[in-house]
Amino acid sequence: MASVFKGIALVTGAAHGIGRAIALRLANDGFHIALNDIPSKKALLDDIAQTVGDKGGRAFAICADVGEEEQVKEMVHGTVKTLGGLDVMVANAGIARVNSLTGTPADVWDKVLRVNARGVYLCYRFAALQMIAQGRGGRIIGASSVAGKRGYIGLGAYSASKFAAGGALELGKHGITVNSYAPGIINTPIWESTFVPSDYTSFEEEKNKYVGDTAVGHVGEPEDIASLVSYLASKEARYVTGQCFSADGGIFLT
Ligand code: NAD
Repeated sequence: MASVFKGIALVTGAAHGIGRAIALRLANDGFHIALNDIPSKKALLDDIAQTVGDKGGRAFAICADVGEEEQVKEMVHGTVKTLGGLDVMVANAGIARVNSLTGTPADVWDKVLRVNARGVYLCYRFAALQMIAQGRGGRIIGASSVAGKRGYIGLGAYSASKFAAGGALELGKHGITVNSYAPGIINTPIWESTFVPSDYTSFEEEKNKYVGDTAVGHVGEPEDIASLVSYLASKEARYVTGQCFSADGGIFLT
């Protein structure tokens, strides 16, 4: 674990998958970490905090639903109270649902947009307010997707929600950069739990098709996203803002 203190980071949806990898990577980079997820995943967050602590870092679990305004506000305040400030917000939490347009009930649309778009907006907003008040700049980073850059069959609600992460330029004058990462298929539980095989093909078939269309010929690992976030969170990335970065194995190249 790096010993040079780099600042304080809050990672949402950190219990497993990409969020967990980002939290571990930023802890290794020297950040003190607030680990967020929903309350049912508190034990997983505590395990990560323990792992970070065992390596000489500092992390703690702070549960909140990112779709709830008061909870996001409290999550940011709780982070500041426990760790002393906020320098990096990673709005990573997200859910996916696979439905055709005609097969998407309005409540499913609302649910996806609530976590992926409203949740990202709330995290960006309360992080920005805190960072502006601190007056030392900051990094705001959100989870978009390949489906946040173009449409995909069966991903209407998800795709709409992921266009929301994008980037924001208006905070630049405060030294705050806002960027997002757009993963392709990454080896995490999100797809297995949300794919609807009856609507389309099986997840395995879709995954193989995706892999066949990438330049690198394989799906990504959570660490492939964490290394990109590590750069975006660093001081060296101060002149990079308003961008959405693909980490998708080169799906657009073929
Ligand atoms: P994951 O399911 O492993 O992790 C997502 C986490 O978000 C979960 O731990 C979940 O509990 C948490 N979460 C869900 N709703 C929440 C809420 N309301 N409040 C707080 N936390 C909540 O998925 P992942 O693959 O690690 O995905 C991380 C991010 O990357 C997501 O935003 C996802 O949409 C995006 N993404 C993933 C892929 C991929 O292939 N894995 C591709 C593109 C984009």
